[in-house]
Amino acid sequence: MSHQTGVGSYDILIVGGGPAGLMAAISAAHVGARVLMLEKGERLGKKLLISGGGRCNVTNARGTDYILRNIPGNPRFLQSVFTQWSSEDIMSFFEGLGVALKEEDRGRMFPVTDRSSTVLSALVKHLQDMAVDVIFKAAVDRLWTDDGKLSGVFLNDGRMISAPCVVVATGGCSVPETGSTGDGYVLAKQAGHTIIPPYPTSVPLLCNDFFIRDRLLQGVSLKDIEQTLYDSKGKVITREEGDMIFTHFGISGPATLRTSQYAVKAMQKSDVNSLLLAIDLVPCKSADVLHKALRDAMLQQPKRTFQNLLKDHLPNRLAELVVRLLQIADDHVCANVSTKALEEALKLLKAFPVHVNGSLGLKRATVTGGGVNVKEINPSTMESKILSGLFFAGEVIDVHAHTGGYNITVAFSTGYVAGHHAATRVVLV
Ligand SMILES: Cc1cc2nc3c(=O)[nH]c(=O)nc-3n(C[C@H](O)[C@H](O)[C@H](O)COP(=O)(O)OP(=O)(O)OC[C@H]3O[C@@H](n4cnc5c(N)ncnc54)[C@H](O)[C@@H]3O)c2cc1C
Repeated sequence: MSHQTGVGSYDILIVGGGPAGLMAAISAAHVGARVLMLEKGERLGKKLLISGGGRCNVTNARGTDYILRNIPGNPRFLQSVFTQWSSEDIMSFFEGLGVALKEEDRGRMFPVTDRSSTVLSALVKHLQDMAVDVIFKAAVDRLWTDDGKLSGVFLNDGRMISAPCVVVATGGCSVPETGSTGDGYVLAKQAGHTIIPPYPTSVPLLCNDFFIRDRLLQGVSLKDIEQTLYDSKGKVITREEGDMIFTHFGISGPATLRTSQYAVKAMQKSDVNSLLLAIDLVPCKSADVLHKALRDAMLQQPKRTFQNLLKDHLPNRLAELVVRLLQIADDHVCANVSTKALEEALKLLKAFPVHVNGSLGLKRATVTGGGVNVKEINPSTMESKILSGLFFAGEVIDVHAHTGGYNITVAFSTGYVAGHHAATRVVLV
């Protein structure tokens, strides 16, 4: 890979070497543009490497409609992007580079090697094959404009690099040690864009219940539960299914990560300090069916402790907590459990309450919500509606998705479209 140190002659500058920037550079080079990538770190794709548990969930195989349903942050803005570069295109692209993919649950696609480095190496090799130059430790500080016309960028060491088109692909501002520190918002603002204030999404939630504080459930994981989040007036905000885990600070796991952005937004909006989240611990049985199952079991095993019977349906520590919340002794046998206590137990099993009072914040969020206002970006080209020649791609834009390969799909697809249109414009003039 070439390492340019002076001011070269380029058609397109790509700011940021994450998945969005990499794909933008590749698609622009395919059209025939001379492309320079500016990356402020010492390596490319740092966040991509840790994504998907280090396995890189490259995309999702269930198609555009399914993907859009898993993008709570501005999905409509992405419709045109996905018609130009869809998840199928992403899969064919990687297969074409020799990266064999496999499908896992809910359509999630991974490299068969189970290593994100396979995906990153293929992208970097292709970048080299397409003669894209890269400068590392090149932090873009400002856009270079002359009489209101985009002319290139300034690096933070004072260097000026000229080009008629710039693609900002600097990511959001979560997990900043990967290089995404919100620099793109500064560049966008300089061009006159508005920034929707960043907030954490797909983030573990903090809870203030005594059983969390006393770590009674720390490490207890639950499979295929259902979480319902309520606003301060008792109205349902969202209902999410999946696995979850209790931690020393609150709750996490896929269902919680999906719930989190709604909790963060509701707390910001209404200024409440705690929201009720009810967990259906036994979603596979309706309340009536579960009631009958418990009652029948109690009749058949009157000498069994109630706590022990609950362990047929719940992890041990959760069954112990339920009995404690019911103020029933550990050795209380089924024969002595009152109808009222059984009703109360049922309520806890179908809507176990936890109180959410915060999140781990942007630094620990998987994805940043907010960013460059989508109303100011042309959805068909990713070009700024304010400054001609300026393009945006990836998480820097005010779009965000659940985890499951959707964010990386957004990064690849917006990157492809931004790079393609930037290149088409400079190469065809
Ligand atoms: C732990 C973790 C797990 C994840 N798992 C998943 C998953 O399973 N599925 C999924 O879809 N998504 C996942 N994500 C999210 C996904 O990785 C991101 O959405 C995606 O990487 C965003 O791509 P991007 O190219 O827009 O930005 P980034 O990947 O953040 O890349 C931005 C790049 O720009 C560079 N940069 C920043 N500022 C400047 C500057 N001023 N000058 C030059 N360069 C700059 C940065 O150094 C960085 O290299 C995960 C994220 C994390 C943190």
